[in-house]
Amino acid sequence: MHIHIITDLEGISGVTDISQIDYDTDGYEYARIRLMADVNAAVRGAFNGGADTVTVTDGHGRGKNFIDGALDKRAVNINLIELYKQGIHKQVDAVMFVGTHAMPGTIGAFLDHVQSSVSWYNYYLNGIRCGELVQGGAFFGSYGAPVIFASGDEAACSEAKHFFGDIQVAAVKRAIGRNKAEAYDFDLCEKIIESNAAAAISLADKIKPYTVSKPVEIIVDFTRTDYCDRAAERPGVERVDARRVIKRIPEITDYLSVLL
Ligand SMILES: [Zn+2]
Repeated sequence: MHIHIITDLEGISGVTDISQIDYDTDGYEYARIRLMADVNAAVRGAFNGGADTVTVTDGHGRGKNFIDGALDKRAVNINLIELYKQGIHKQVDAVMFVGTHAMPGTIGAFLDHVQSSVSWYNYYLNGIRCGELVQGGAFFGSYGAPVIFASGDEAACSEAKHFFGDIQVAAVKRAIGRNKAEAYDFDLCEKIIESNAAAAISLADKIKPYTVSKPVEIIVDFTRTDYCDRAAERPGVERVDARRVIKRIPEITDYLSVLL
């Protein structure tokens, strides 16, 4: 059983203020420590539950948030583009999200957004408004791998269950408005991530992969017309109105194909 874990930073335990997302701050350095604690708890859980192979993608920003040498030695760190280039995505049996966040426009969610908090207002995949959970889920789903576990704030966990079904989740905090959160006890968070990730392994052949009908239609609404101007120049992207673009692809092949 090959498990692939995708991490993000906004939904990590101990990331409770928007300022922690800015690189080169003390809060960010602390966020990295908690990121390693959460991802390693999920790696332990995956192996405890029966996984033979665990690959991990550092999915936040430039993908350079992991602390060198701190990832559980049994897991392989690989970025999504490299994973795709090497064809590893075809071997993945199930996917786990660690530190994930809700889609933009979610009430009671910490740092809700999709791709860019500044420029992306709404994202639709085949007419369904969604966020990064579904983007990743649809990529791996097109190769037959379901999402079986997610950790993040309460809202992210609810969203994961909404889209993927009765999967295992681990809520590590509760939002207080968009830019602040109330942390839950860290030891407890790690324990719950580890035990629920382990329990999730048995769902790999029960939960359906997230699939979308073909051809695939991607719509992005931007916050401003100038962001839309730039996006509309990309090949295959068609402008619908001042702030909306549409992209139609025959099928989802790689992770980037569900973006613009
Ligand atoms: Zn992020």
